[in-house]
Amino acid sequence: MTTIEHWIGGEFTAGSGGRRGPVFNPATGQQQHEVVLASEADVDAAVSAARIAFQTWSQASLSRRTKVLFNFRELVNANVAALAEMISDEHGKVLSDAAGEVQRGLEVIEFACGIPHLLKGEYSDQASTGVDVFSFREPLGVCAGITPFNFPAMVPMWMYPVAIACGNTFVLKPSERDPSASNFIAGLWREAGLPDGVFNVVHGDKVAVDALLRHPDVAAVSFVGSTPIARYIHQQASATGKRVQALGGAKNHAIILPDADLEFAANHLSAAAFGSAGERCMAISAAVAVGAAADPLMDLVSRKAADVVVGAGRDPRSEMGPVVTAAAKQRIESLIGSGETQGAKLLVDGRGLTVPGYENGFFVGPTVLDHVQPTMDVYTEEIFGPVLSVVRADDVDSAIDLINSNPYGNGTAIFTSSGEAARRFQRGVRVGMIGINVPIPVPMAYYSFGGWKDSLFGDKHIHGPEGVSFYTRAKVVTSRWPHVTTTADASLHFPTSS
Ligand code: NAD
Repeated sequence: MTTIEHWIGGEFTAGSGGRRGPVFNPATGQQQHEVVLASEADVDAAVSAARIAFQTWSQASLSRRTKVLFNFRELVNANVAALAEMISDEHGKVLSDAAGEVQRGLEVIEFACGIPHLLKGEYSDQASTGVDVFSFREPLGVCAGITPFNFPAMVPMWMYPVAIACGNTFVLKPSERDPSASNFIAGLWREAGLPDGVFNVVHGDKVAVDALLRHPDVAAVSFVGSTPIARYIHQQASATGKRVQALGGAKNHAIILPDADLEFAANHLSAAAFGSAGERCMAISAAVAVGAAADPLMDLVSRKAADVVVGAGRDPRSEMGPVVTAAAKQRIESLIGSGETQGAKLLVDGRGLTVPGYENGFFVGPTVLDHVQPTMDVYTEEIFGPVLSVVRADDVDSAIDLINSNPYGNGTAIFTSSGEAARRFQRGVRVGMIGINVPIPVPMAYYSFGGWKDSLFGDKHIHGPEGVSFYTRAKVVTSRWPHVTTTADASLHFPTSS
């Protein structure tokens, strides 16, 4: 069993905490590693390394930063398969899904490669006679990222490529359940030429998180995780004067209208509900079947749910892997039971699934509950498992009202062939990311990602233009130059930047 250590100032260290946590392989149910859990002193060491590195990295030219980012992009691209295996072994998701998350993370790195363009300021010539006004943006300092288990590569990549490209240094506190990908990434950054101390990884739990929130040298905190912790992070970081964006949990609804292509809708609904065992913040966990769509849709979705091949993430035949821990499996199965007890109709039951050869794995099969009422636990809770709850509605307006009554507002989708209904939906729902015949509308890296209501605390969405804005602050210069004569050395070679 290997010990997964912190990466601080360009070195692996076990730190001073002494505490350790288990890292399981969800397919086998066996512990495969232990991870060190940081003490306050370990966090302080990481922040100090980042603070020192900031002095030089913040002064590195755009050309130099861009070269490192391009190198890093090439290295991540060359290591997609290795990362996917690491992710699959600790998270449980199937290899193709794990490779997909790395690909979506790569897109943020590619976006950050364009940082010279993104950081161009504004210029007003002759704002007043002889006076020019211009603006530019500077990095903040040490930025912290606290990330969830469900995307161990992609979600941190929503943060650090942009933060580092902007000239900040970074301390990442990944999920303690699947920590290996972050250490692997640290090695790629070093190989790409990033100076030691610019990117640091501290592993840990609440102790590490609280130390980051309290630390006076942490300028900004990006968090992605569940809503109660997101709310806590936002409050604590704000109270200590930090810039903070805290993305929370979700209950994403898809409306299916009777005029939709129901076969298409059922296919996509099934993929969005059961892909990654439902452990995606953009998973569709609630379907709102409108009017005559409901009965035929339930037939189709139930068939597709029953056909999903569940198995170990490393098995190329598997379409869906296990959930992350034994506790997650137990919680999901108990919620399915509560749905049945509270009156929902259990069309497909994923409890008690055994995968041959992986009898101790944390598997739950795809589950479909029909006739769910908004008061039931399966509707009010974020289940974060392969469970699709189906609510029936009379028309598109009552379906929109249902979405708007929900405390979450991360993503939502509509399946329809009516442009009029789609437009009413896109304008009427109070949700941050909207799909029209697209069930998982995760924005491209050059847009920003973020929900509304209890799915995001703070102002700025993550990555894209809002990410650049989050990780920088503006200066506006008003300048006047009396007439002067200057002499400067000039070279005859073709000008290049340095
Ligand atoms: P989580 O909230 O349990 O953990 C997230 C991070 O917070 C981890 O690094 C963890 O170590 C830390 N943490 C946990 N408990 C803490 C505490 N009491 N005090 C301080 N820090 C604490 O979330 P998770 O189970 O790892 O991930 C799943 C959740 O993340 C789901 O709710 C999902 O919807 C959400 N999520 C949201 C998005 C989004 O973009 N909105 C994306 C991915 C995941």
